[in-house]
Amino acid sequence: MSTPSVTQVRWIPVAEPALVGNEKAYVNDCLDSSWISSNGKYIERFEKSFAEFCGVNHAIACANGTVALHAALLGLGVQPGDEVIVPTLTYIATANAVTYCGAKPVFADSELNTWNIDPALIESKITERTKGIIPVHLYGHPVNMEPLLDIARRHNLFVLEDAAEAHGATYKGEKVGALGHAAVFSFYGNKVITTGEGGMIVTDDAALAARMRQIKGQGMDPQRRYWFPMIGYNYRMTNIEAAIGLAQLEQVDWHIERRRENARWYREFLRDCRALILMPELPWAASVFWLFSVVLKTETGISRDDVMTRLCDHGIETRPFFYPLHTLPVYAEQAQYPVAEMLAAHGINLPSSAKLARADVEYICDCLKAIVT
Ligand SMILES: *Cc1c(COP(=O)(O)O)cnc(C)c1O
Repeated sequence: MSTPSVTQVRWIPVAEPALVGNEKAYVNDCLDSSWISSNGKYIERFEKSFAEFCGVNHAIACANGTVALHAALLGLGVQPGDEVIVPTLTYIATANAVTYCGAKPVFADSELNTWNIDPALIESKITERTKGIIPVHLYGHPVNMEPLLDIARRHNLFVLEDAAEAHGATYKGEKVGALGHAAVFSFYGNKVITTGEGGMIVTDDAALAARMRQIKGQGMDPQRRYWFPMIGYNYRMTNIEAAIGLAQLEQVDWHIERRRENARWYREFLRDCRALILMPELPWAASVFWLFSVVLKTETGISRDDVMTRLCDHGIETRPFFYPLHTLPVYAEQAQYPVAEMLAAHGINLPSSAKLARADVEYICDCLKAIVT
């Protein structure tokens, strides 16, 4: 197959929100009623519906996923000097939230088959300061939770799922978000569903939920206005954001099915491409394929960045994998994490929006195959 013409004007973004439901009607309702700040019926409805969606009792809307992680960690009791184990291959927010608490993110390498934190490497990272583990369901694929939860139980550690990229993914038939002590989601513009900026903490633990809600609401005593028994934060979501979120959540099955369909198309068109490792989906998992991703096999000797540049020339936007956090100046370490380093050096996130058509995916795959073979 020859590379399609470079004069093609089509531009395919790596991600793009699909506002296909009641978003506009609900936002207009906020404007018409003047409920535009962080009180209002959409906040309550979005929280309640999101808790139901995850199969948990409590959901707490926050201004974004990063502060949701921070409030969740504070609620779980993380203090200065503590350690929290996180994968090195994740978005920086996972580790930053630990740092905001004055605690230390302790990195663990990824496993080859899921690209997620390798449960077999966690135990060696545990010290007397370790308080918890943050498994990250990277790019929409659930972490292998059972061995991780087992380690957490034996060492009395909390498990806070970072499900920012995995709304609706399931592990052995159970939704992510309901697998640990608490979980955090993001509704940034490129996530599976969006509120523009936004986040959510979910948990089944009523006492924990109350603590987290107080932390995100400036620390105010819920029974006594302007009484602040603790230092809290203003991490609130607005009613307008929740209105968009509720409309997105009404269509969440469609958003997920569209991404899963994209993945089926990618697998079909890239099936015989020997230069690539395709995004995994283990038999016990249902991924939501937040970003359909491929890893260039090292033995091909093809430069990942060249592939991305050439795809860009064809109007196809891509992203490199995250830099492993231990390679960033702010978290630099001498230690090596070979699996994460290999994935990060050779991984490409392909266009994955719910708006893609089969012909788009076919075009992307034709270009990609022509470049790498
Ligand atoms: C997007 C993301 C976050 C943070 O979410 P924001 O809403 O952008 O603050 C946290 N963790 C992971 C893994 C993410 O992908």
